[in-house]
Amino acid sequence: MPYDFDLFVIGGGSGGTRCARIAASYGARVGVAEERFWGGTCVNVGCVPKKLMVQAAEYGSWAEDARGFGWNITKDAHDWRAFIAKKDQEIDRLQAIYKSMLQKAGAREFEAHVRFIDPHTLDVGGETVTAERIVIATGSTPFKADIPGADLAGITDDLFYLHERPGCIAIVGGGYSAVEFACIFAGLGTEVHLIYRQPLPLRGFDCDLREAVAEAMEAQGIHLHHGVIPTHILAEGPTGDQRRLHLSDTTDILVDYAVLTTGRVPNLHGLNLDASGVALNEAGAVRVDRGSRTSVPHIYAIGDVTDRLNLTPWAIAEGHALADTLFGNNPREASVENVPTAVFSVPPLATVGLAEEDAAKLGPVDIYVSRFTPMRHTLTGRAGRRTLMKLVVDQRSQRVLGAHMLGEDAAEIMQGVGIAVRMGATKQDFDRTIGIHPTAAEEFVTMRTRTRVAGVAEAAE
Ligand code: NDP
Repeated sequence: MPYDFDLFVIGGGSGGTRCARIAASYGARVGVAEERFWGGTCVNVGCVPKKLMVQAAEYGSWAEDARGFGWNITKDAHDWRAFIAKKDQEIDRLQAIYKSMLQKAGAREFEAHVRFIDPHTLDVGGETVTAERIVIATGSTPFKADIPGADLAGITDDLFYLHERPGCIAIVGGGYSAVEFACIFAGLGTEVHLIYRQPLPLRGFDCDLREAVAEAMEAQGIHLHHGVIPTHILAEGPTGDQRRLHLSDTTDILVDYAVLTTGRVPNLHGLNLDASGVALNEAGAVRVDRGSRTSVPHIYAIGDVTDRLNLTPWAIAEGHALADTLFGNNPREASVENVPTAVFSVPPLATVGLAEEDAAKLGPVDIYVSRFTPMRHTLTGRAGRRTLMKLVVDQRSQRVLGAHMLGEDAAEIMQGVGIAVRMGATKQDFDRTIGIHPTAAEEFVTMRTRTRVAGVAEAAE
């Protein structure tokens, strides 16, 4: 039976768009549906507007820092509404680009919700379409921890559309979003309370980075409430607009706005997945193999909906590899190993490869750590801007297993270091590379003295 489409992609976010576009460029008859906004979370309520917000926050401190270099720049309060209007304009532009890229590639796009009718048939906004192959690329959606009064708190999506910048905000969670928004709002002049249940933010990151980011946030005046969770959230104030958070250490705080950044869950709502036969894993994400194949042979899933590595570039890599495999006569899989990542805190942190704790479980590792004040801040005198750089090196092979940095331009620097780590570079390869002077990045190739050895005990077990 001929199908309407060779491939139908459900979801027009980063991964889905790339997969649809590349498949169409190989001549496949492709349909792609998006129910909310083209470009998905990354373009609309994630990476892109978040990075613009980070940049907005940075300008304030730059205006102050300029004094250290002889400039006298008067700094007024930040104009939130003006910034949000500019940000919205840019997001509209990017949305249009995403849509037109699909059109140019020859894919047919639908602005509609999709439901499975059977494993090859979809209801796309009331229209019934059939497809030989289907890709589920519906992403993820913020998840609110089960805290009494959670409905009085916002989610990260809301932060991009606030009418006013809150004077005081409570951010619950200690992950990527929590740390990033804490620094953004602090930089814009908001009093920030960051509430997380671990001793340090960013569980899973290298221990030295976690300590360094906590120190940097504290130096910016962010109130860190570690090892606690809110026990309940109440509305308060003359108009009921304020929020009081009672914390498990029996303290409480009153803020203008509270947001829960307690993770994300796969977005499967209303998809009628049962009709497709696709199986989920224990965590409620779509179960896939390394080739993005679900339990149904002609149905695939990519990106956050599979809850493996919830990063835009990974979803894009997966979507591209899948299109190459299915229609480009180039079977391949995207690799989850040594994926560099960054948290856009102030200063940012970036990492590739293994944290010290994880590497130490595999055997003895040489640890190189360097901490210094970046050149700029010797003149500005700004506190909380110390840079941390760290290499985790396998003692036997001298391969660099992990590189970590907190400091200005960390994300830009780590992209290149990521290539070296991925290629299996050794510490000696790093040492042989001549530094670019004067930069912070050169520290990665000039760390001569080992700071400590880790993992001997673990290796002996
Ligand atoms: P994360 O999964 O990164 O962090 C969730 C946080 O909420 C953790 O600190 C977690 O604590 C805490 N938490 C979870 N449940 C509860 C609970 N019941 N009570 C109290 N605290 C709780 O979520 P994010 O929303 O920050 O980010 C989601 C994903 O999106 C990230 O993992 C990342 O993959 C991606 N992302 C990437 C960014 C980037 O590349 N720069 C930016 C933003 C997001 P605990 O650690 O104890 O579990």
